[in-house]
Amino acid sequence: MKQDGATSEDVRLGHNSGRKDLLSKFDALIAEREALLDTGVRDPFAIVMDQVLSPTEAVIRGKRTILLGTYNYMGMTFDPDVIAAGKQALDEFGSGTTGSRVLNGTYQGHKEVEEALKDFYGTEHAMVFSTGYQANLGMISTLAGKGDYIILDADSHASIYDGCWLGDAEIVRFRHNSVEDLDKRLGRLPAEAGKLVILEGVYSMLGDIAPLKEMVAVARKHGAMILVDEAHGMGFFGEHGRGVFEEAGVADDVDFVVGTFSKSVGTVGGFCVSNHPKFEVLRLVCRPYVFTASLPPSVVATAATSIRKLMHAGDKRAHLWKNSRRLHAGLKELGFTLGTQTAQSAIIAIILPDMETAVAMWQGLLEQGLYVNMARPPATPAGMFLLRCSLCAAHSDEQVGEILTMFETAGRATGCIG
Ligand code: PMP
Repeated sequence: MKQDGATSEDVRLGHNSGRKDLLSKFDALIAEREALLDTGVRDPFAIVMDQVLSPTEAVIRGKRTILLGTYNYMGMTFDPDVIAAGKQALDEFGSGTTGSRVLNGTYQGHKEVEEALKDFYGTEHAMVFSTGYQANLGMISTLAGKGDYIILDADSHASIYDGCWLGDAEIVRFRHNSVEDLDKRLGRLPAEAGKLVILEGVYSMLGDIAPLKEMVAVARKHGAMILVDEAHGMGFFGEHGRGVFEEAGVADDVDFVVGTFSKSVGTVGGFCVSNHPKFEVLRLVCRPYVFTASLPPSVVATAATSIRKLMHAGDKRAHLWKNSRRLHAGLKELGFTLGTQTAQSAIIAIILPDMETAVAMWQGLLEQGLYVNMARPPATPAGMFLLRCSLCAAHSDEQVGEILTMFETAGRATGCIG
């Protein structure tokens, strides 16, 4: 849309009839991106999957590519039962609900997926949101109000920060994964104030896990309520695959668990489960739940089927851990610098010195037929440039071997390893 009286060059530069161009604050980012792309590299943030062949393979620009940068941890996206459930719901209930959960957007399938979550987590209550991002926005902004405090890890996911900003509570950050700093900061707050401590089971940039046992004990000691985001832990931590909080043995002390369907469950949607006796009131007061359309029937049907199958997925879980440990050990042996000393989760992060090296490595892998995620500040902690690998239970032993060979080739070509 060209503005009145402006030449095309004016529009490009953002000059127009005296109005301040609100996009000019992004000029430095635009320039950085243009300079990078001018060097001839592919844009790491504009990859298109032309065809998806399986949970672990896609076709990108005509090339068969192994996927090592999805959150499809349990490989559920092509599960025949999951797909059949989605197709059936599409036929029986149509393509969308066209409405909010509290008015015309709650179908039988939404109740069924909430039942599946209650069974999976062994909780009294489950509330499904349209995304995991919205689950954090909704839960955090609704639980902690004016005069309350939210105490969160400095490396928390963007959806947690945005949930804080949507609400009215005071925000206090503690040093990433530091039990001591959490204790210190909680100790400075007024004893009588409402407090919500927010933790993540797995931190998704480096793939490290939180010392939940110690942190939950400290939060309890200071009288705080606790919310744990298990987006990257659901499916393969703990006896029932509930997450890191289950493995840490703190389920009884955690008040709210937030999660997503977009990772191990293999579809889209978010949720919160809890045993709090007043939990159901949140359906009336939680704005990111009330003021948005509910998930389509096919999505909730696929999610419910997938969640029920994840209750009996011990073999997949074991294979995922085997893949993760093997890739971690292999990359370490090749000489890469990794985000964690050992494989703590299904995410393995490779730390690279700068943007140019990260993009060169990323492109070197893509050209061989391997897709990984590139992550850069501000998404990453401490200004790091990372290549993030996320493993899938459906990666075969052979694929993990191929992946390591491709890393060796790209690493030597870019000088990342000797
Ligand atoms: N929490 C964490 C820790 C995440 O990493 C993400 C997404 N990457 C979300 C919440 C949001 O989930 P969704 O993709 O379902 O919006």
